[in-house]
Amino acid sequence: MSVFDHSEFDNHEHVAFYHDEKAGLSAIIAIHNTNLGPALGGCRMWPYVNSSEALTDVLRLSKGMTYKAALANLELGGGKSVIIGDPRKAKTPEMMRAMGKFVDSLGGKYFTAEDSGIAVTDLQIMAEESDYIAGVSAKYHYAGEEANGNPAPSTAYGVFVGLKASVEFGLKRSLDGVSVAIQGMGHVGYRLAKHLYEEGAKLYVADIFPEGLEKAEKELGATVVAPEDILSLDVDVLAPCALGAAINDQTLPDIKAKVIAGAANNQLAREEMGELLSQRGILYAPDYVINAGGVIDIFHQRMESSSNEALRAHIEQIGDTLKEIYVRAKKENTATNRIANVIAEERFSNKA
Ligand code: NAD
Repeated sequence: MSVFDHSEFDNHEHVAFYHDEKAGLSAIIAIHNTNLGPALGGCRMWPYVNSSEALTDVLRLSKGMTYKAALANLELGGGKSVIIGDPRKAKTPEMMRAMGKFVDSLGGKYFTAEDSGIAVTDLQIMAEESDYIAGVSAKYHYAGEEANGNPAPSTAYGVFVGLKASVEFGLKRSLDGVSVAIQGMGHVGYRLAKHLYEEGAKLYVADIFPEGLEKAEKELGATVVAPEDILSLDVDVLAPCALGAAINDQTLPDIKAKVIAGAANNQLAREEMGELLSQRGILYAPDYVINAGGVIDIFHQRMESSSNEALRAHIEQIGDTLKEIYVRAKKENTATNRIANVIAEERFSNKA
């Protein structure tokens, strides 16, 4: 398994492999870039078929975190860690403790947090072994909600702020009366729907499970739509808040919304989808920019002194960053996802 000539290597600063046989842990930490500050990125536990697949994932994800942190105005770099194994079968407290030791061995160059397969309770065990575990307990609460380390409320608030800025830029109007189709009524999707409802938006929602839908229908007056119809609804805004690759070769031709602004990671099946959206006059809010509220929250949890107001103000910068991207994309006649990458690269490279 090669590392330096791996297709996803892309100038990573540090890649560390760790094996603790007794604890059953095989893990990789990848640190892409620390020009702006220590690397932050979640720990993912996944039943990778082999270590090569795990390496590809960790390299790709850690690079993404460098870009995300740079555009979220965070003094942080990008990193990520992966544990090879099925979180439902192989996870043990000993394994989490060993992972904490692995994180600690990098001396603060990398901070870990939650990702797929890892819960706050797992992080709390890691935190017994290291000071470099983030997202273990939330200090701040705002928008009427007390979080417990779960970044979803902050992510949802950031998506709301970003969606509002996108509507202002693309449709030249406020959210009052704007129709929004939300794919996924989970932790983020439902909270986003609530913020939009409070601003007078008209909601259409879909999920593959009924719980969130029933609540949205009853409490937010949302119209429930079949999952196969949500992406092609004739609405002003589409908010993908379920899985990745919602915008793909099959779905793109039928999208009628003029703005796409949602929480899901990797919404575009391919980067070229950005150009196709822009050719069709659809304003796309780059996913890693609009969904950065959670990582901003985790950063504030670690600050010596912050406040509800400081966290909220920082999350609200997502709207300004999106407008900066939209103005430049228009001026340079380039897709918004490409411009986001260029601005991020300018920010972290200029610090070198
Ligand atoms: P979640 O699992 O709570 O919610 C996702 C919802 O989507 C679930 O209710 C699921 O049933 C539904 N869903 C799955 N497939 C669907 C389909 N085909 N059609 C309609 N609904 C479908 O996850 P979440 O925490 O709300 O996150 C949502 C998205 O935002 C994910 O892509 C996640 O990676 C991304 N994201 C989340 C956070 C966060 O803080 N939670 C931060 C950044 C990005």
